[in-house]
Formats: sequence, C-alpha cells, structure tokens
Amino acid sequence: MKSQPYHTVRNSKIHGRGVFAKRPIRKGIRIIEYTGPIVTTKEADKIGVQNENGHSHTMLFEIDKDRVINGNEGGDARFLNHGCDPNCETVQDGDRIFIEALRSIKQGEELCYDYHLQVPGKITDKERKEYACFCGSPICRGTQIAPELLAKQAKKDEKKSKLKAEKKAKAEAKAKAKAKVKAEKKAKGKKKKADSKSSKTDKKKDKKKVSGSLMVNVNDLSKKDKKKKKNKKKK
Ligand SMILES: [Zn+2]
Repeated sequence: MKSQPYHTVRNSKIHGRGVFAKRPIRKGIRIIEYTGPIVTTKEADKIGVQNENGHSHTMLFEIDKDRVINGNEGGDARFLNHGCDPNCETVQDGDRIFIEALRSIKQGEELCYDYHLQVPGKITDKERKEYACFCGSPICRGTQIAPELLAKQAKKDEKKSKLKAEKKAKAEAKAKAKAKVKAEKKAKGKKKKADSKSSKTDKKKDKKKVSGSLMVNVNDLSKKDKKKKKNKKKK
C-alpha cells in the first residue's frame, strides 16, 4: 500500500506557492525528495533565476560545486520556501537530496528549510533585496543568503571601512601637516618680503650713498692722487 503523502502545495504567506504538512510529521521523517534533472553549474547559470516583483525564485539545488539539480523541471520540493528558523532540513544521500523534518510538525504548518543561498561575488544591498526573506520568524535574518557568506561580507566591509577611515585620517593628517607647512612658509615669506622690501630700500639708500660717496671718492681720489702725486713729487 502506497503511503499517503506528507505534504500538499498551496499559496504561501511567505512567498508564492508553498509546501504544507498534510498531516502531523514526526521529527526525522523524510518528507519529500528534491527532484529534477542534474545539470552542470555552467548550465544552471544559463537557467538563472526566475524574477518576480524584484524577488528571485531559486529552483536550483547544489549537489557539489560542479552539479546542480534543476528544480524548475522537478517535483513539489521546489516550492518549499526558505525560512530562517526552519522546521525542515535538507539531507544529501549521494546525488539525491531529501527534505527531512527537523522537529515534529503540526498538520497545516508550512514546511521550510534554510536555503543557505550561495551568491557568487560581493553581496550588495541589491542582492540582499533580491533574495529578501519574509519568513516572519523573530530570528529572521532578512535574507535567504547563507549566514556564513553574510558574515564573510560583513568582515570584509568592516575591514574596508576601517581601511577607509585609516586612509581618511592619514589624508587629513597629511593635509593638516601641509597646511601647517604652508602657513609657516607664508609667515616666513611675509617676513622675507618685509626683509627684502627693507633691504631694497636700504639698497636704494645705499646706492644713493654709494653714488654720493663715489663722487666724493672721485674727488677724494683726485685729491688723494694729487696728494699722492704731490707726495710722490715730494719724495
Ligand atoms: Zn527569514
């Protein structure tokens, strides 16, 4: 006798369609298999994700880093929503993926598991929004993206902002030092200018003096010469 299925598919409050417990499910029960053709990660990239109102439906399940189950062509398990405090978990058995009850589940409860969504590259606000979570759990992390990826990104962001702050502080210190040097130079320059001004006027005075004294000197010289000549003559 074929056993009655544990689940049923209907509209979900979380997102689109969801999978619900058709009857009470005991902890550890293998509820449903995540089925669909196995494709390469490259092929999966081409399939991509379905987008609806800016939110992405992911119907791909990673078996390993090279292969993915394409749930788009699979069974009901693809309708299981993500939940941050899930009542189910996924269990890999070779190349097969099963959804199992993490705890006892009441009839009518929506089944969900943590997608631990893998997003390549940097996790931006756009990605967070695209894979936003509406599970409604008090411990909802707001996104379906894997917590370890979020933690990694947070660490990177922190490092970056720290570096940025350090760079800013360095630049500010440099600018301050530069401004100080400039101010000092300016002050010195003013002094120099003042000095050169006074020296110029002094020089002018000197020139006058010099020219005056030269004249005098010439006269003196001639006088002296005359004197010398006189002296010479005397000698
Ligand atoms: Zn959530």
